[in-house]
Amino acid sequence: MQGLVILGAGLSGLGCALNAPGAKIFEAQSHLGGHAYSHQQDGVYFDQGAHISHSKNPTFVEMIKKSAKDVVEIPKSHVQNYYQGKWFTYPVQNHLHEQPLEVKTAALQDLIDAHLEQAANPKTPENYLEWCIAQYGDFLTEKFYKVYTKKYWRCEMQDLSIDWLGGRLLPSQLHKIIAGSLGPQPESQAAFAAFRYPAQGGFFGFFESLYKGLDISTKMKAVEIDPIKQWVKFENGQKEHYQHLASSIPLNQLIRIIKDAPATIQQAAEKLRCTKLLCVNLVINQPKLTDNHWFYIYDPEVEFSRVSVPSNLSPVALAEGKTALQAEIFRRDDEDLNIDELVEHAVQQLSKMLNFRVIEDIQSINHIFVPRAYILSDHQRATAVSEITAWLKQFNIITMGLYGRWNYIWSDVAFHQGQEAANKITEQKYDSAGNIARSSRIQRAG
Ligand SMILES: Cc1cc2nc3c(=O)[nH]c(=O)nc-3n(C[C@H](O)[C@H](O)[C@H](O)COP(=O)(O)OP(=O)(O)OC[C@H]3O[C@@H](n4cnc5c(N)ncnc54)[C@H](O)[C@@H]3O)c2cc1C
Repeated sequence: MQGLVILGAGLSGLGCALNAPGAKIFEAQSHLGGHAYSHQQDGVYFDQGAHISHSKNPTFVEMIKKSAKDVVEIPKSHVQNYYQGKWFTYPVQNHLHEQPLEVKTAALQDLIDAHLEQAANPKTPENYLEWCIAQYGDFLTEKFYKVYTKKYWRCEMQDLSIDWLGGRLLPSQLHKIIAGSLGPQPESQAAFAAFRYPAQGGFFGFFESLYKGLDISTKMKAVEIDPIKQWVKFENGQKEHYQHLASSIPLNQLIRIIKDAPATIQQAAEKLRCTKLLCVNLVINQPKLTDNHWFYIYDPEVEFSRVSVPSNLSPVALAEGKTALQAEIFRRDDEDLNIDELVEHAVQQLSKMLNFRVIEDIQSINHIFVPRAYILSDHQRATAVSEITAWLKQFNIITMGLYGRWNYIWSDVAFHQGQEAANKITEQKYDSAGNIARSSRIQRAG
């Protein structure tokens, strides 16, 4: 589509461009894919934090499988938790038979109390803490969920809303929890029991070929936008005029670079929070150090919250006799982080946990720093996002994607939001007779 400029070549930018032939994409980085990009190290691909496809959207799944050509289907995920020197199956509440008697009984007692209380006085939870207590009871919430929230989200449970939970955490099913307290259950209890992954190229292997033929310029960071004259300026000074702008760049950054955005909108943008992520990648000369596809670590003194195992995701990911590990360390966006120190600690702690020698066994160590990892779904987010998007509506600017809309979405939804953005723009641009509609210019507020 002539006149459409897309900012960002992540998956929402990709979905938008594929639905709008002729659109131009501008990407700040030297590579495509955004958060879905995979980095090569010693012949193995490391993603930007654990990435798998568990999409249930048949059209999307068919597209990525065709694009990747060779795909590994994993019918049952191996996922564990690590806490105080012990391993247990994820999620903890569905495998209570692995816990000591006193933990098991306290957990079941509080869980049943929570269900009875909910039945007697039904209450809609107002935050993540209330949701967890209602679902799992006080004991499990205090012992596991509170500890992990501090590590992973770097905040208190009550600071989080519940609008991000859908599909990520399972509401408790009493019969499954009771059965799981008696012994192992045949069926997987994890939220992402089955998933798929490309045989080659890491997670980006699902998408790389889809970018072929698109009009993309890389190393083009947008630094200024005039929404009235309808141009974007890039870091190298180049200006691009547009009729429609589809942006997947972080919403707060978008507002910072729009000329004369009103103070109320700038204030809303500054309320948006997220975490940052340091991925420590190791290739180790030891065969299969774990069967897990990924695992979670609850101990506060262990730097990393999650470890994924790329060599278990694809059988051809790495030569036999080696293991690839990625440890993920999260910090809030306003926290400092000393990369060298954290990498060193993480390597030492991981070597003790999985029993390998730092000097003799490690073939290579590298890291990936992701300045924006997960959006923080705190109580300010939803209102701030709607204020900003409502204001942007008067211009021919549409936002899409993970940070474009500051919402916690998976890859298939990001792609779909891009497609939807293209469809909306096409509907606006052409009237029912197929004639080009006049672009309506409305004066800025404020
Ligand atoms: C740690 C982590 C784990 C995840 N795991 C999974 C998973 O297992 N499965 C799954 O399906 N999804 C997963 N996701 C979600 C998935 O990665 C995202 O939903 C998807 O990749 C987002 O695509 P996007 O295009 O919306 O955003 P992005 O990928 O952020 O793309 C935006 C693009 O804009 C570019 N940009 C930024 N500023 C500018 C500028 N000023 N000018 C020009 N370009 C700019 C960026 O460089 C980037 O390429 C995960 C996300 C994270 C953070």
